[in-house]
Amino acid sequence: MLKIKSPFKPKSDLAQISEVFSSIQGEGLCVGEKHLFVRFRSCNIACSYCDEYDKVYFEDLSVIQLMTSIQSLDKEKGPHDYVSLTGGEPLLYTSYLKNLIPELKREGHSIYLETGGILYHQLEEVVAFCDFISMDMKLPSVTGEKDFFKEHEAFLKIAKQKQVFVKIVLSKQTKLEEFLKALDVISRIDKTIPLVLQPVTDIKTQELEPGIGEYLSSLVSVAKRYLVTVKAIPQTHKWMNIQ
Ligand code: SF4
Repeated sequence: MLKIKSPFKPKSDLAQISEVFSSIQGEGLCVGEKHLFVRFRSCNIACSYCDEYDKVYFEDLSVIQLMTSIQSLDKEKGPHDYVSLTGGEPLLYTSYLKNLIPELKREGHSIYLETGGILYHQLEEVVAFCDFISMDMKLPSVTGEKDFFKEHEAFLKIAKQKQVFVKIVLSKQTKLEEFLKALDVISRIDKTIPLVLQPVTDIKTQELEPGIGEYLSSLVSVAKRYLVTVKAIPQTHKWMNIQ
């Protein structure tokens, strides 16, 4: 399905927020932890497998309104290991984040940023406030987008000031040469940056591709030749039937 990118003009005082919820982190290195998620609407790209790209329902919230929701949810369902800023692409809202994150820190929250790993100029503006960064590397054979290796390289060089891991979504269509390029980028920056390989989940059936396990296993072996820590972790929250 062709996804049309909507014109997007973020304001610094309001953000389009699709969801604020408490759940278990289902992806990446922090899988299984309790996180309070703030989902920002809209993205700078449109991955073929995305179910969050352009949520229809959202609210324009000021920092004060969002902090009120976060504080009440944290009181009711916390404590949380992190407030997870997710999307969409939260870095589309850099000016807003520069007001929001210091408030969150003042309230004692740790910040987990989930990002597509492309908008490196925007990351520069907020990286000092982040505690943990989950950065995607997008492979064109899976996303249907162009490649972003230059942007990913610039992004990871900045992100590595903090705790960071790279996540690559894979399918049976993943081209080995693209995967090797991604490994080259990460290993040239720092071989100890952890890599999580996430098999794509079908948007309609919510199932993994039949036979993906074997391909995934072979790609873990390839990646282990370049990097110290490589893990294959599917989206576990879908199995747990939670958000
Ligand atoms: S970067 Fe993430 S939010 Fe944006 S389109 Fe891709 S999967 Fe969706």
